[in-house]
Amino acid sequence: MISVAEARAALLDLVSPVEVETIPLAQAAGRVLAEPVTARRDQPPFDASAMDGYAVNAAEVELHAMFKVIGEAAAGHGFEGSVGAGQAVRIFTGAPVPDGADFVVIQEDVVRKGDLITISYDPGDSANIRDQGRDFRAGQTVDAPRRLRPADIALLAAMNIAEVPVRRRPVVALMSTGDELVMPGEVPGPDQIIVSNTFGLKAMFEEHGAEVRMLPIARDTDASLRTAFGLAADADLVVTIGGASVGDHDLVAGVAESLGLQRAFYKVAMRPGKPLMAGRFGTGAMVGLPGNPVSAMICGRVFVVSMLQAMLGLSTAEEAPAQASLAVALPANGPRQHYMRATWTDQGLQAFDSQDSSLLSVLAQADALIVRPPHDPARNIADQVEYLPL
Ligand code: AMP
Ligand code: MG
Repeated sequence: MISVAEARAALLDLVSPVEVETIPLAQAAGRVLAEPVTARRDQPPFDASAMDGYAVNAAEVELHAMFKVIGEAAAGHGFEGSVGAGQAVRIFTGAPVPDGADFVVIQEDVVRKGDLITISYDPGDSANIRDQGRDFRAGQTVDAPRRLRPADIALLAAMNIAEVPVRRRPVVALMSTGDELVMPGEVPGPDQIIVSNTFGLKAMFEEHGAEVRMLPIARDTDASLRTAFGLAADADLVVTIGGASVGDHDLVAGVAESLGLQRAFYKVAMRPGKPLMAGRFGTGAMVGLPGNPVSAMICGRVFVVSMLQAMLGLSTAEEAPAQASLAVALPANGPRQHYMRATWTDQGLQAFDSQDSSLLSVLAQADALIVRPPHDPARNIADQVEYLPL
């Protein structure tokens, strides 16, 4: 058996960043920026009023000062002329501050009669002007790699970047294997269950930037597995589920090897999820996950998500594990790294009583996985433990 860290390193070795494509900004949310992009202009592109009020010369601003209003500047419609002594321009938020003015007295501090205004309340020290380039300057860059969040999209738009270079979505082909499996919505026979892992993993991988193709369920025969693998030929990553142990009906490794899988390893010292295979496969890679639903989901979270990050050109440095207090004591751990399904309480994390790797109902209630290293000693209430958020 190899450690989780060794397995993760071996898996990351199997993949490399996919190509870069250029897409419209409106479709770029959640995608990974592949190259730095550069602002094409200053923002604001001119000194802009931050308030509704009157633009004047700061040197003339004092309580009871009077000005003549000579024009108006609104957003999108600047004032052409220049503001002289004793003059003011009616101005609105977002309008360019006219020449000659460098202070905006907010309208609440002014009394207006016809064309005359008087500063009737303390105008304060703030000029109420957003200086040109205060947000960003032309030439300023947004660095890559970066997964684009909504705020990034807004920033790129303001920078006048209409198209962005992103990593293409890695194509993941997902294959469930087993004679007992039918699709949700179908009528299962008396010995059958509904396939669940494929759906959970599809959701997980899509959330992490993959384009997921669900293959037809492969039956526990050479021929059926071969057909399914044939449909996955052009995927960047083939993920099989089940059939990865050493039982009589666990045919995945044999078939995959006969199709060219160079198997990298087989068993990982972790709970749940011990049987795991991986290797180079065609032009991509293959990972064989265990069939037990919780094992499959946890191996997906611990291993495949990192592989997707690598394929997207993102850093795969181990996330610094979060720490939390234990709400309930835990017995000593065995020789395998244990990912315990747990929930938040006011006192910290509490592991569920049942950690059986077939219980999806428990996984669905879990907020986090407490990570117990191999041979972790017994832990008391209020001890700090590491966890992965779910
Ligand atoms: P296996 O690794 O094929 O021996 O499967 C281990 C257990 O997981 C068995 O109880 C299978 O029925 C179950 N299983 C395998 N694949 C799936 C799947 N895609 N969805 C739900 N359960 C599965
Ligand atoms: Mg099976």
